[in-house]
Amino acid sequence: MKRMTGKISTKRRNYLSFMLVPHHGGVKTIRINNYRTKLLSFTAMMMIALLTLTGYTLSVVKENKTLKIQHQKEIELILEQKARLEDYIANQTNQLIENAQLITAASTSKIISEQAIQQYQNEYENLVVSYVDNNMSTIKKVSRGGSKEMTFKEGLAELRSLIELVKSAKLSEDDTDSKIYKKEVELTNFLDALPTYWPVDNSTTVHSGFGRRLHPIYKYYRNHDGIDIGLKAYPNVYAAGSGKVVETGRNSGYGNYVVIDHGYGFKSLYAHLSSYNVKVGDWVKKGQKIAKMGNTGTSTGTHLHFEIHVNGVPTNPINYLEKR
Ligand SMILES: [Zn+2]
Repeated sequence: MKRMTGKISTKRRNYLSFMLVPHHGGVKTIRINNYRTKLLSFTAMMMIALLTLTGYTLSVVKENKTLKIQHQKEIELILEQKARLEDYIANQTNQLIENAQLITAASTSKIISEQAIQQYQNEYENLVVSYVDNNMSTIKKVSRGGSKEMTFKEGLAELRSLIELVKSAKLSEDDTDSKIYKKEVELTNFLDALPTYWPVDNSTTVHSGFGRRLHPIYKYYRNHDGIDIGLKAYPNVYAAGSGKVVETGRNSGYGNYVVIDHGYGFKSLYAHLSSYNVKVGDWVKKGQKIAKMGNTGTSTGTHLHFEIHVNGVPTNPINYLEKR
């Protein structure tokens, strides 16, 4: 113990002492030699330097790596976006092409279907018109008194049913260019022109009929070219059919008279008139008031002498007029 103490005291040693002072018990001392301390310190310093360097390097590497990853990610993101954009553009382009094809296809099929409809319409209209024309030729023959197959009245009924047919056969109400519409107008005009309208009011009594009769004034048998109708109390005289006024005047037999040309070979004559309100060249409609009946010319009282001429030949008006 003495030797140890002297050793300490005789030789001043370069050492480092750590004194541990616990709360209970004696003081403990840890002594570290100086060189060790130096080495430890150096090592520690080197370690710290190394650690620092390593840390720095690592952090730089890490940072670089992070940056690189970030950069890579950015690049990847950009590439992804680019790819997405390309996809989008490709998609849109395809869509556009598809749409264009669809539009072209649609317009083509529209043209095709329109053509088909037009063709069907033409065929259908031709069918209706030819059916009407076939029946019209019979009616026209009848109307001119040249048919034994049917009377004018039967032909008239058929004409009316034909008009109903073309009316209902029309594909469109306002298509004024269609053959059926034109046929309807033609038939309606024909019907309007035919002298069928009873030309006086309130009496359908025939005072004197058509044909050979004892003349009331001349007192001998002669042909009566028309019929005598009407009452003094209802003096209005109407056009039997639509047409053009071709003659007006006054003579000893007819007194004041009017002649209307209805076309299709028909003319009507109105005689013994007290007055008339039309002039040559006027177009009149069926049922239009044209005159007042009277007692002019060779007449025994106020009445209307009415004639119908078919192709220049006086014909019995009763065959044509419809009582109303
Ligand atoms: Zn007469």
